[in-house]
Amino acid sequence: MSTMAQHLTDREQAVVEAVPAGLFIGGKWRESSSGKRVDVEDPATGQVIATVADATVEDGDAALAAAVEAQESWAATPPRARGEILRRAFELLTERADDLALLMTMEMGKSLKEAKGEIAYAAEFFRWFSEEAVRIHGRYSTAPAGGSRLLTMKQPVGPCLLITPWNFPMAMGTRKIGPAVAAGCTMVVKPATATPLSMLALAKIMEEAGLPGGVLNVITTSSTGQVMEPLIRDPRLRKLSFTGSTEVGRKLVEQSAERLLRVSMELGGNAPFLVFEDADLDAAVEGALLAKMRNIGEACTAANRFHVQSSVAEEFTRRLTERLEGLRLGRGTEDGVDVGPLIDAGQRDKVAELVKDAVDAGARLATGGTAWGDQGYFYAPTVLTDVPASARILREEVFGPVAPIATFETEDEAVRAANDTEYGLVAYVFTRDLQRALRVSERLDTGMVGLNAGVVSNPSAPFGGVKASGFGREGGFEGIDEYLETKYVGITL
Ligand code: NAP
Repeated sequence: MSTMAQHLTDREQAVVEAVPAGLFIGGKWRESSSGKRVDVEDPATGQVIATVADATVEDGDAALAAAVEAQESWAATPPRARGEILRRAFELLTERADDLALLMTMEMGKSLKEAKGEIAYAAEFFRWFSEEAVRIHGRYSTAPAGGSRLLTMKQPVGPCLLITPWNFPMAMGTRKIGPAVAAGCTMVVKPATATPLSMLALAKIMEEAGLPGGVLNVITTSSTGQVMEPLIRDPRLRKLSFTGSTEVGRKLVEQSAERLLRVSMELGGNAPFLVFEDADLDAAVEGALLAKMRNIGEACTAANRFHVQSSVAEEFTRRLTERLEGLRLGRGTEDGVDVGPLIDAGQRDKVAELVKDAVDAGARLATGGTAWGDQGYFYAPTVLTDVPASARILREEVFGPVAPIATFETEDEAVRAANDTEYGLVAYVFTRDLQRALRVSERLDTGMVGLNAGVVSNPSAPFGGVKASGFGREGGFEGIDEYLETKYVGITL
């Protein structure tokens, strides 16, 4: 790993230097064929902390060739052996959680506490899928008319391309790599250019855990579109799994349509957070804090807008504002820091623009509303009240620490407002009325609902969205199906 930062502590420097340099192709670490490298920045300071290899189209092709070459023997590897590699990787991730969390905080910005939480969450996908590897079942049955027999088997889909975002640099990787390894698929992984270090560290762990060369190949590149498109159009590739923005997801679905490639899409969200007057307000404020501030608001599951019944809106707003004002901003490595920087200047400017648009449309600022600090890309936790329906922030994904609050009078109005978006990833509902809870959960057009809960992510649950939030599920019993094909054999006895 080539580093150039003078401002890092000795421990930070050591953690960055432990990350292997280069591209990981066919079980070997090597430079890009162009010899070029890409900078990795610390978003809390804007300074370069490392450089990684900048893969070319030829390197992408070599990575896919390595995955294709390893596919047959990997598919033939006993499920128990595949599961045990994942189990070892789970243990290594857990043992090294402190260093991996520090690395993640340096490249992504979230607080160390949150980064540790992500390492634990990421590792759990490996534990879960190590257990699923040995439970890939088929069927044998008699045709209803008798005579013939039906044999149904599940087989690995084949070489996959896995593209991950910067907001959860480790967990969005293990959520795809875990089931792919368990199912017997080989893969090329492309992490986000802003946060490649966590994925490179993970590749090293997989190598140590005994994963054969070529099963997992990792390429980092700044020429993302140019390197990815030929892979998506390549007939040797059998599956694309993408987590990222809806905008890029749409483009990739178009590219994959030519060959009718199997595709999973985990895209953007615009989660509504509904608070009914019968809610436990303590729980609702606590849930709101989690749903809004987890990952600095840079989560696809982040509560994007709060719809609060009028009778409790003032109290909910006051209490949420107090809690947000009590959060400490700073570099995520510092003790006691709750809120780190946004990923880059562009993201910070987009948040500022959405806040300005809402204020121009008539919303009031209860707190925040400004960038923060003299370096890095911080934005102060912000609460907006009286947000009019026309404000862009109610429809667009804000991806930052901003809580816009609108009010409603009736349950119908709340459900209509919640569903009035092209997205459909998750919704949060706070109420103590069981019938209302179930009635509203059924009516929400989302793939997931947090019922009196501010976080839904769980490796043993099927994560995913509907509408423009994508298709396919990650985690749970469903997660491995994304990497399996069903083959039917008709038998005459
Ligand atoms: P993004 O810009 O769509 O990037 C995601 C990944 O796609 C990155 O690796 C990126 O590479 C790559 N990419 C960009 N353009 C590409 C192209 N033309 N061809 C192939 N790959 C391309 O999203 P992001 O800003 O990193 O992540 C934030 C988004 O992800 C948000 O919308 C969030 O809601 C969504 N997300 C969804 C889930 C979910 O499970 N539903 C989970 C987490 C995040 P570069 O970094 O090199 O551009």
